[in-house]
Amino acid sequence: MTYDAFSNQALGFTTRQLHAGYDPGQHLRSKAVPIYQTAAFELGSYERCERLFDYSEEGYSYVRYSNPTNDVLEKRIASLEGGTAAVGLASGMAAISDTFLTLCGEGDEVVATRTLYGGSTALLSSVLPTYGITCNFVDDPDDPASFERAITPRTKAVYVECLGNPVINIVDFEAVAAIAHAHGVPFVVDNTFATPYLFRPLEHGADLVVYSATKYLGGHGTVIGGLVVEGGTFDWLGGRFPRLEAYYQQYAARMGEERLRRELFSHALRERGLIDLGAHMSPNTAFSILQGVETLSLRMERHVANAQAVAEFLDAHPLVEKVNYPGLASSPYHGLSRRYFPKGPGAMMSFDVAGGLAGARRVIERLRVFDFMVNVGDAKSLVVHPASSTHYGLDPEECARAGVFPGTLRLSVGIEDVEDLLADLDQALGA
Ligand code: PLP
Repeated sequence: MTYDAFSNQALGFTTRQLHAGYDPGQHLRSKAVPIYQTAAFELGSYERCERLFDYSEEGYSYVRYSNPTNDVLEKRIASLEGGTAAVGLASGMAAISDTFLTLCGEGDEVVATRTLYGGSTALLSSVLPTYGITCNFVDDPDDPASFERAITPRTKAVYVECLGNPVINIVDFEAVAAIAHAHGVPFVVDNTFATPYLFRPLEHGADLVVYSATKYLGGHGTVIGGLVVEGGTFDWLGGRFPRLEAYYQQYAARMGEERLRRELFSHALRERGLIDLGAHMSPNTAFSILQGVETLSLRMERHVANAQAVAEFLDAHPLVEKVNYPGLASSPYHGLSRRYFPKGPGAMMSFDVAGGLAGARRVIERLRVFDFMVNVGDAKSLVVHPASSTHYGLDPEECARAGVFPGTLRLSVGIEDVEDLLADLDQALGA
């Protein structure tokens, strides 16, 4: 018998989510991916130490840089996403911030939508500016031309989320990618809400994909982690990214020019984010995320089916004023949803309850199956009131621009029996 499913990219998504990137023959034939609970590895010999540190030999030395457990997760996600390489980091925010800190230096700029996770908006609008990296937020994410207007010669990334937060808006990915590429700028997509099962941004023009693996990839709300996947086709050597070019000049001969060109960003990110800034993912976390990924496609199918039923139920309810879910035919994003998310636009949605704040508060206090939590992407169903939590502190005008009103609730629809979710919402909304 010759088992080779770990390296067969022709296998289906669900087969690869169970097998890709892990060869038991390299790990004492343990069928579960072992957790390498060590801070460092014995180097073997003087010559081998030199080869590891000049990157002419692949291997492990110190775990802040790499670890065999994380390596399996990185290879598995790269396989599912269709990328050339991936890097695991301590959290989604570490993945996002270290991506920008690898691409940008003082004086550089990012172009982004405003409909982002609150932590990403804060990073771009108030944290990175203190390091001289600024963000031009686009005026209208629905109009690709507004991305073009925001790009300058100092732009180092165009950044969007696959499904915006919390109104679940969708940009025209291919149009935005074409604009970014016409200016020599990489297109970066946070694909946390969709996962590679529902949407693979690299197939629609993205160059880098970032994840909070805390959410659907881990899937059970047990660990915090992040991942960045590289597409392998962006030309980093065109003059806009001097640090990446310097890395290439230093290591291309030893690592192989062709390979390094395809994985250049990932190596530079590993150096900046993990070695320099220390945002490494623990191998225990990598193991938990691998466990989650084993059932990703099955969970996402159920998440999407439940979300569609919940959205339709809310849409028909007399005490619900508006539902934001692109799976509804009435959504302004329904066309883009059908084009980019044929398996369904995820399981996140928001809705406005009649009666404003009092109405929303009443629903939260009456829900019995939905948990009241700011997390998303758990197997369990979660509800949050954005105005008093994820968007707390924004003035009413900023909130309104983000689609957050006093009566808005955001749902992360889980995989429970859908009848229980509908009954819970029904009794909480009341007559
Ligand atoms: N991206 C999105 C879309 C998120 O919802 C979150 C967290 O909620 C993050 C990134 C940040 O991820 P983490 O909490 O793992 O740092």
